[in-house]
Amino acid sequence: SPYESYIAVAEALNRLTPGDHDKKSALFNSGAEAVENAVKIARKYTGKQAIVAFDHGYHGRTNLTMALTAKSMPYKSGFGPFAPEVYRAPGSYPLRDGLSGPDAAARAITLIDKQVGADNLAAVIIEPIQGEGGFIVPADGFLPAIADWCRANGVVFIADEVQSGFARTGAMFASDLFGIVPDLVTTAKGIAAGMPLAAVTGRAEIMDAAHVGGLGGTYGGNPVACAAALAALEAFENDGLVERAQQIEQLLRGRLEPLAAADPRIGEVRGRGAMMAMEFVDPETGAPDATLTAAVAKSAIAEGV
Ligand SMILES: *Cc1c(COP(=O)(O)O)cnc(C)c1O
Repeated sequence: SPYESYIAVAEALNRLTPGDHDKKSALFNSGAEAVENAVKIARKYTGKQAIVAFDHGYHGRTNLTMALTAKSMPYKSGFGPFAPEVYRAPGSYPLRDGLSGPDAAARAITLIDKQVGADNLAAVIIEPIQGEGGFIVPADGFLPAIADWCRANGVVFIADEVQSGFARTGAMFASDLFGIVPDLVTTAKGIAAGMPLAAVTGRAEIMDAAHVGGLGGTYGGNPVACAAALAALEAFENDGLVERAQQIEQLLRGRLEPLAAADPRIGEVRGRGAMMAMEFVDPETGAPDATLTAAVAKSAIAEGV
C-alpha cells in the first residue's frame, strides 16, 4: 500500500523516460542506490553476474558503485576491496581517441566478447553523456551500436541518467539525443530539485524479475521527496526547461567557441544543453592541463561565477 504520491512519481517517470513500451519504476534515496538496484534487477532477470562499465565512468561511492566508477583518485583510492564481476571497457571520447562511433563501439564489443563473454554478462551500464568524467559526448553511432549488441546478446542496457537526466542536456533525457531506448534508466539529482530521491525505471518484464520484497528501503519514495519530485517534474514539462537548456547551449557556444578558436590551450568546447564543458590542454602535447583548469576555475569564482 504505497503512498499515492509514490505512484504518481512512478507514473510520471514511466511516461517521461525514453520509449513507449510497458514500464515500471521503483524509488530509492540516492543515485548510487538506484545504480545498485538496477544491477540487482539485471542480475535477477538474466541469471548472469558480470557488469561492464566504461572508462571515465562515474556511478557513485558505495562499494558496488565504486567498483563501477573508473577513477581512483578521489573516488576509490584506499577504499577497496571492491565488488567482484565488474569489468571496464573503453568508451568513446572523440577528442582523445579520434574514433568514429561505430569504430569505438566495435573496440568495446571486441574487448567485452574476449574478456567477459555475453554468456556471463548481465548488464552494460553507461552514462549517455558522462558527468564527472568531464561531460564527454560519445561520437554518433556509439551508443546505438552498444545498445543493439546488448539486445542481440541478452544483455540488459542500463543508462545511468542520474546526472544527464531531466532537461539538462536540452532533451528530457540524454538517451533521447542519441535515439536509444535503454532497458533500465537510473535517475536522481534533478528529479526532486535537491530532495533525496532516485529511481530505476525500466521494461516491465525486467523490473518484475525481482521477487516481491526483494527491493526496497525505509526512506525510498518517502512522501516529502515525492511531493518535491512532482513539483519538479511539472516544472520540467511545463516551464519550458528543455528549451531553456537549448538556449543556454547557444549562449555558451556563442561565447566559448570564439575563445577556443583563438586560444590553443582550449582543446575543445563540448556538451549538450546546459551540460557544457571546455577542456584545457597543453598546446604542445594536447595533454590535459589540470593546473590551468584549476586556475580558470579559481578566477571564475573570484569573478562571482
Ligand atoms: C552523482 C552520480 C551518481 C551517484 O549519485 P548519488 O546521489 O551521489 O549517490 C551516479 N551516477 C551518476 C552518473 C552521477 O552523476
